[in-house]
Amino acid sequence: MRRSKAFIPTTKEAPSDAILASHIYLSRAGFISQVASGLYNYMPLAKRVIKKIENIINEEMNRAGAQEVELSFVTPAELWQESGRIDKFGKELLRLHDRKENLFVLGPTHEEMMVDMVRNRITSYKQLPVNLYQIKTKFRDEARPRFGLMRGREFIMKDGYSFHATTEDLDREFDAMEKAYKRVLKRLGVDFRVVEADSGAIGGSGSKELMVIADSGEDTIAMCSKCKYAANIEAAKKGRGYNPPEAPGVEFKKFRTPDIKSIDDLSSYLEVDSFYTVKCVAKKVVYEDITEIVLFFMRGTHNLQEAKAIKATDALEILDVSEEELREIGLVPGFIGPLDQDKAKHVIDNDLQYADEMICGANELDYHYLGVDMAILSEVAYYEDITEVKEGDMCPQCCGKLKLTKGIEVGHIFKLGTTYSSALKAEFLDENGKAKPFEMGTYGMGVSRLVAAIIEQHHDEYGCIWTKATAPYMVNVMISNIKDSEQLELGEELYAKLQELGIEVVLDDRKERFGFKMKDAELIGFPYTVIIGKELVNGLVQIYDRKTKEKTSVNKDEIFAKIMELI
Ligand code: ATP
Ligand code: MG
Repeated sequence: MRRSKAFIPTTKEAPSDAILASHIYLSRAGFISQVASGLYNYMPLAKRVIKKIENIINEEMNRAGAQEVELSFVTPAELWQESGRIDKFGKELLRLHDRKENLFVLGPTHEEMMVDMVRNRITSYKQLPVNLYQIKTKFRDEARPRFGLMRGREFIMKDGYSFHATTEDLDREFDAMEKAYKRVLKRLGVDFRVVEADSGAIGGSGSKELMVIADSGEDTIAMCSKCKYAANIEAAKKGRGYNPPEAPGVEFKKFRTPDIKSIDDLSSYLEVDSFYTVKCVAKKVVYEDITEIVLFFMRGTHNLQEAKAIKATDALEILDVSEEELREIGLVPGFIGPLDQDKAKHVIDNDLQYADEMICGANELDYHYLGVDMAILSEVAYYEDITEVKEGDMCPQCCGKLKLTKGIEVGHIFKLGTTYSSALKAEFLDENGKAKPFEMGTYGMGVSRLVAAIIEQHHDEYGCIWTKATAPYMVNVMISNIKDSEQLELGEELYAKLQELGIEVVLDDRKERFGFKMKDAELIGFPYTVIIGKELVNGLVQIYDRKTKEKTSVNKDEIFAKIMELI
């Protein structure tokens, strides 16, 4: 591509709401342009990067035996009613009517559509397993679209769905897809982790996310410093083999604690480690038909993990509650304890099940109980894992300690079981001629989010640094002064030669100053720039490596061989 003809509208201006490096650089370097909130145009450079990512995904999916399809973007609302997801997805679904007043939904994901396509077409266990995928635009009317391509409303996703006769076969495919996804990310050149994820309302153990490690990531990952354990903070568990601090050593009694309402105050007032205090977090829990106050109890050392709380209560969402609302139902804010269970539903953290010598609110103004053996609740209490792990907690799988890191979710693989096939009555006949719903898996990868994630991990203060597998062009041949016929000639020659060999190359033949062109090249992030400049009179040109920022002088006759060696 000749830069003088290319549509690469670079600019000094970043969008006013851009915080993330990827948002700033992809906009400034002329990859994307915003149309409206969460809607972006992909300009030529972005399109090239997206194609590369898609090619790698296609290759790995083919290698794993998955077959590419393409389903309609506009999906009939009836399918969403059939699965029951039309309400669950709520406002994220963009609904529209056609001229005959039929209701449709722009596809945010395609489980229903895929099940609908195979039902009555795959009818026997002999036709299984099948893994079908597509790479396609999705639409989710996200509550807070932000960070450029990271959280768009319209975005590109690779979504795959597999169908099986047995759970064992689903397990096998799930592992194969994990391997395929790992290969994709390795080839793209990003540092990533596979983490255990929250399996949501559907349950089961088969839910893993692929996280690109980056400080700007919206997700927090807990990783063991010793073993391979890694989990999304929403699902991360802590081990139990800790050394407890010294116990307070008091008998059960009610104790006056005037105006001592917080865990910190309580622990310093009584000179007891907060490990022995019971924290109450009250929340308003929203269900489809009602909203109620639920009290969550845990050790004072830990906080409530909201996703876990939602799962434990099977709620749609969880909201904060005011002290006023707590008083209305007879609770005493600051002094709420788990011993009286009659005023609200309780959920108690697993870690408190056998805890002894605990201190908790007495449900009476200015009083706490000391020396509580939590085992007395074991007959009546509802226990769940509801706390958020923190840095330094024990690993649940070994004796290592957990550390926390930020990540960007670029992929999600999930064992669905028969949830959708049952709801949509998609069945096959097994070996005994018995009708059974398909066992299903679902495998998503955020293609447009990956474009942003790569830059989050690979940039500096000057702009993008593309990995070799994702660069829109590998080589930028820059002629410093196009009025210099010798420079121009060599540039043209090198450009033609590289093009002939199928190397993706740009010839910067613009009538601009050297400094300007160099800044532009750094902003866009071509892996290599060949600088044909003043040194040419001595027979030398330079190769600029975008990653290391090093310039190496090379004899002009050796430049072609040198480039081939580098790429
Ligand atoms: P998130 O938790 O980030 O909202 P999700 O769990 O809703 O994502 P999935 O339904 O698992 O996402 O979708 C599969 C993949 O699609 C995600 O792993 C992510 O890479 C990508 N993705 C999801 N939502 C968006 C979005 N709004 N913009 C860009 N990519 C997205
Ligand atoms: Mg997800």
